[in-house]
This record gives sequence, C-alpha cells and structure tokens, in this order.
Amino acid sequence: MNTSPFALSEREQTLLDTVTELAKNFAATAADYDQRAEIPVEHLRALTDAGVERSVLPADVGGDGVSYQAFGELIRVLAQADPSTATIFLMHAGAGIALAQLTAPTLGSYYADEFLGGARFANALSEPASGNTFLMPQQHAVAAEGGWTLDGAKRFVSGSEIAQHLLVNALVDGVPTFFGVEPDETVTTIPIWDTLGLRATRSQLLSFDATLLRADRRGRGLSPFDFAAIPAGLPAISLGIADAALGALVEHARGRIIQGEPLSHQQWVQFEVASAESGLEAAKAYFRTALWQADSGSPSTIGALSRAKLLANRVAVDMAQLGVRIGGASGYLKTSPIQRHLRDAEAGQLMAYSTEVLSGQIGAEILGA
Ligand SMILES: Cc1cc2nc3c(=O)[nH]c(=O)nc-3n(C[C@H](O)[C@H](O)[C@H](O)COP(=O)(O)OP(=O)(O)OC[C@H]3O[C@@H](n4cnc5c(N)ncnc54)[C@H](O)[C@@H]3O)c2cc1C
Repeated sequence: MNTSPFALSEREQTLLDTVTELAKNFAATAADYDQRAEIPVEHLRALTDAGVERSVLPADVGGDGVSYQAFGELIRVLAQADPSTATIFLMHAGAGIALAQLTAPTLGSYYADEFLGGARFANALSEPASGNTFLMPQQHAVAAEGGWTLDGAKRFVSGSEIAQHLLVNALVDGVPTFFGVEPDETVTTIPIWDTLGLRATRSQLLSFDATLLRADRRGRGLSPFDFAAIPAGLPAISLGIADAALGALVEHARGRIIQGEPLSHQQWVQFEVASAESGLEAAKAYFRTALWQADSGSPSTIGALSRAKLLANRVAVDMAQLGVRIGGASGYLKTSPIQRHLRDAEAGQLMAYSTEVLSGQIGAEILGA
C-alpha cells in the first residue's frame, strides 16, 4: 500500500498512464507545431477522446473530480512533452471549470455539459491596461438590454481561435464580474502572436466591439472552494519544461564527444547538473506539498502555490540556460530541442502572476510591509 501523502487513487493513476502514453506522440510533434506556431488541435482532441475533461471536471458540477495532486502531475506530464498543448489545455480547463462552477446556481449544468461534450474554452481575462493582475479588470461593462456590453480588448488569450466559449471579466458597477461569452462577429482576433516561446499556444489579442455580456451568462464571485485549476497548473508547466530541458541536456552531454571523452565526463558539467537537478527536485517536492495543502483545503494554499510557481519558473530558466551552456553552438541550432526549451522556459515567468508580481507579494508578506 502506498502511504505517501501525495499518493494518487487507482483511477487517477490510470488517467495519468493514459496521458503519459498520449504525451509520447505529443513530444514527437511539439517542435513542428512550435516552428509553425500552429495550435496542436490533434493533441487536444486526443485528450478529449481519452475523457480527460470528465476526469478534471469537479464532482460538484458532474465530473470525476481528480485531486489537485493528480491535476498538477497531469499538466506536468503534458508540459514535459509539449508545453503549448499543456498551456492551452490548462487555460481551457481553467475557463471551463470556472464557468461550470460560477454559473451552476443560475444556469445549472449548461457549461459543464458543453465542457464534457467537447466544446473548447479559453480565458479572456488579461487586459492591455491591467498589467499582470488579470483578476482586476479595468474595463467597464455598460448596462444594455439583456445584460451589459463590453467595448475593449483582452490579450494573450491562449487557444482563442478554436474556442467556442470565453471566460471574460469586466467591471459591472465597479465590481469585477465574470461572464461566459460565445464569440460572435463582435469579437475579432488581432493576430499579434508571433513569439519567441510557447508559439503553438497562439495567445492572441481579442477585440470586443459592443459585445453583449448576457445577464444569464453572468457568474457568481470566486469562492475558496472552487477548483483553482490555473494556480495549480502554472507551476507544473514550468516544471515540465525543466524536465524536458534536463532530458535534452543529458542526451547532449552523453552524446557529444570532446577529445575522445563524452562531455558528461567533464567535472564542471557534473557539478552544474547536480545543482540544477537538485533544485528541480526540491521545487517538485514543494509543489507536491502545495497541492497536498490544496487537497486538504488549507487556507495557506494560494500562498504555497504562489511560491511553487515562483520556484518552478526560476528552476525552469536555470535548467534551460544550463542546457544552452552544455549544448554549445550545436544546442543553439534550430534543430536542437535545447533552444526551444530556453524559449519556452522564459514564457513561464511572464504568465500571470509573473515572477515580479509574486516576488512582490511574497516579499511584502514576509517583511510585513
Ligand atoms: C504564453 C502566454 C500565455 C498566456 N495565456 C493567457 C490566457 O490564456 N488568458 C489570459 O487572460 N492571459 C494570458 N496570458 C497573459 C499573462 O497571464 C499576463 O497577464 C500578461 O502576459 C501580462 O502582460 P505583459 O506580459 O505584457 O506584461 P506587463 O503587464 O506589461 O508587465 C511588464 C513588467 O511589469 C511587471 N508587472 C506587471 N504588473 C505588475 C504589478 N501589478 N506589480 C509589479 N510588477 C508588475 C511584470 O512582471 C513585467 O516584468 C498569457 C501570457 C503568455 C506569455
């Protein structure tokens, strides 16, 4: 019997085994999707066909309700194989679960049914003027027949081009309020997404031109009992990228022969890898503890997940930078996975809350400032 506090149930382990198997194919095509900056629709469809949405939808809205521990590991496995797939899936799950839970009291099972039925969701929360604080919208919705209208923009909306449902927030009478929006002709994509990293997420800028925020698609406010998919999943994106970066540098160090000896035999490489890998394992252990707190309903969960994201973001960049040093110029070539992991690792720090915002919050808390 597994007595680890982080142990998964048999059903969760089966889910992870399935996703791990699928992820092998995702890893094989991740570089091509990244190069073309194309959404890996076939990966996302494979996850839906495997019933992953039903597994992650919380039980109170009709799903199987995996633990945070299993959810975090699922996202990490996906990110190790293809972090763009992992990011789009995380945003889709975050928006779908949030809409299902926030509208359940007024709309019943509408969004849960859509999520389980294969509809795609995206988070349209970040605004041009809101900086990193995506839960504090600056844009005001104006009262109109049937609800409110929104004029403005939401940016970096991962997977928005294939989404049937958007989770949108805006100020209603000065109060941040969530809505579900089915994009119509009032919502247009401004194709800005030609980035360094996480290219296949296609996180575009969306323009809203008198878009109706329907009163019957309005959600309630957030509750500490809602499933916090995004805070639980974001550290896992960076940890998965770090794992992939470690795998790539190990493969390179073992295969690269310099003056008759593999690079892996050089002492500086061994020292640096020991330090980077230990940091990664420590970040993973802390992340599992934070997920355990989330599963236990601990009030310190959000603080722990914030620290886990900060640590994971930094560890991923450290590991990816070490990969570039060990890879030398051959790792710098476009054909090497090493350069892709570096580009992807940088993106983890930018996604809200950024390492700067998290450092400010955590530092102020420690200092009582
Ligand atoms: C790959 C990727 C996918 C994304 N997907 C989505 C998505 O699906 N949905 C969505 O809504 N958003 C998404 N985002 C947006 C993201 O979560 C941030 O909200 C957004 O990137 C912030 O804007 P910015 O990066 O231009 O940084 P800016 O906000 O312009 O920040 C610039 C600098 O200022 C710092 N800063 C910003 N605000 C503060 C603050 N309040 N206090 C201290 N420092 C601050 C930042 O840390 C950064 O160093 C995505 C971003 C990326 C990179």
